Amino acid sequence: MKNQVLIVGRPNVGKSTLFNRIVGRRKSIVHGIPGVTRDIIESEASWKDKKFMVADTGGIFEGGEEMSEKVEKQVKKALSEAQVILFVVDGREGITAGDEYIARMLYPYREKVFLVVNKIDSEKLQKNVYDFYALGFEKVFPVSAQHGIGVAELLDALHSLLPDEPVKLEYSGIKVSFVGRPNVGKSSLINAILGSERVIVSEVAGTTRDAVEVPFEYKGKEFVLIDTAGIRRRPKVEYGVEFFAVGRSIKAIEMSDVVCLVLDISEGITNQDKKIAGLIERRFKGCVIVANKFDLVKATKEQAQDYIRKELHFLDFAPIVFTSAIRQEGIQDILDNAILVYQDYTKQHKTSFINRAVQKVLKEKAPPLHKGREVKVYYAHQEEAKPPTIAIITNYPDGWRESYRTFFVRRLREYLGIRYSPLKLIVRGRE
Ligand code: GDP
Ligand code: GDP
Repeated sequence: MKNQVLIVGRPNVGKSTLFNRIVGRRKSIVHGIPGVTRDIIESEASWKDKKFMVADTGGIFEGGEEMSEKVEKQVKKALSEAQVILFVVDGREGITAGDEYIARMLYPYREKVFLVVNKIDSEKLQKNVYDFYALGFEKVFPVSAQHGIGVAELLDALHSLLPDEPVKLEYSGIKVSFVGRPNVGKSSLINAILGSERVIVSEVAGTTRDAVEVPFEYKGKEFVLIDTAGIRRRPKVEYGVEFFAVGRSIKAIEMSDVVCLVLDISEGITNQDKKIAGLIERRFKGCVIVANKFDLVKATKEQAQDYIRKELHFLDFAPIVFTSAIRQEGIQDILDNAILVYQDYTKQHKTSFINRAVQKVLKEKAPPLHKGREVKVYYAHQEEAKPPTIAIITNYPDGWRESYRTFFVRRLREYLGIRYSPLKLIVRGRE
């Protein structure tokens, strides 16, 4: 997380009021931090010619001296990365022990700290400001966040410390999400993954526009968990009452490279499972089928596998893993398979290789005649990765019927060595 302007201060001094003043009516991003009561809220803002990110650190300091080591490490990282720190205090209350605690923490960064004495709503209160010099910061600004007094002066003063280029917030890595019916074990699996020793959850929290994004590392690879439904932090007691939020699942699927479709295999595959599977297929996403609660199943893996392949035949590219979140079994298999899927999902294929593969498929079985004429392929090439998208140029695009396309894609995947990813086929006429 690289926020150029970080707002800190104890509770109730007016941080979020100031944040809203600076940001205006823009869309904000919310992060959750484990062990911290209030979320971090982030948004883009601008002042004069510059755009920057502002974050309200919310409840980070709420714990006072009891801040856990882990949270403290994250706080220090955020403080050292920020361009500007706005340290907000309550001008009506005077200096408190909480302020002094935060001041000590900020002291190493004092060059970039602006002490914002808030709630100076009137001329009369100005005299309160002088007391706050005792905290040891040179740049002191009286403001009234509520009434918008002094905020412009504050922004003018920090303007020169901001970089010219706005920082764009996006994580790199394999974007994975967990979708499935309620109660199949999504949040149990996510907790098992993030709690696993092999997994390093790397940052303060996830950044996002539409979801909580949790970056983590596994076997030296970067991942980003996309959580649109808030299943990561959902209190355990609440399961069962969640309704199936299709919209949020679609969003998660769209934001992902690899979607983990979680099934409660002890219940078998329902129509709702098939619908969710269909959403993944239609968006050409990579997929790992996670057959969870396998501890409750008497059948063998082979039997279960045959059953899943039959019921979800249209996801034939998706590897199947068997897990028990409760027994912590198969958890690593999910990520290992997500890596395999991602490799195929992002592979670039040489044009010559693609054309040879296309010819092999045509030789195996040519498209049926179109109005009595032979259907030919002039040329083929890869247009995109994520997913691999192959365009073919033909004399009769209308001659490529659904059933033949299905055959063609299946065989083409085979010849190209794409085992674990869908392949998107685009059929075009000449010019
Ligand atoms: P936070 O906990 O630091 O984020 O504080 P809030 O922004 O939620 O503000 C705490 C309280 O202080 C709220 O009741 C605000 O309305 C009030 N407040 C914020 N800014 C001002 C201000 O400039 N003047 C006055 N009088 N009250 C303010
Ligand atoms: P979600 O709604 O998909 O996030 O499902 P939860 O993770 O909340 O799990 C729903 C219920 O299934 C909880 O009671 C879990 O303890 C239980 N559960 C989750 N995974 C397993 C599993 O692998 N085996 C068994 N027996 N129960 C599980």
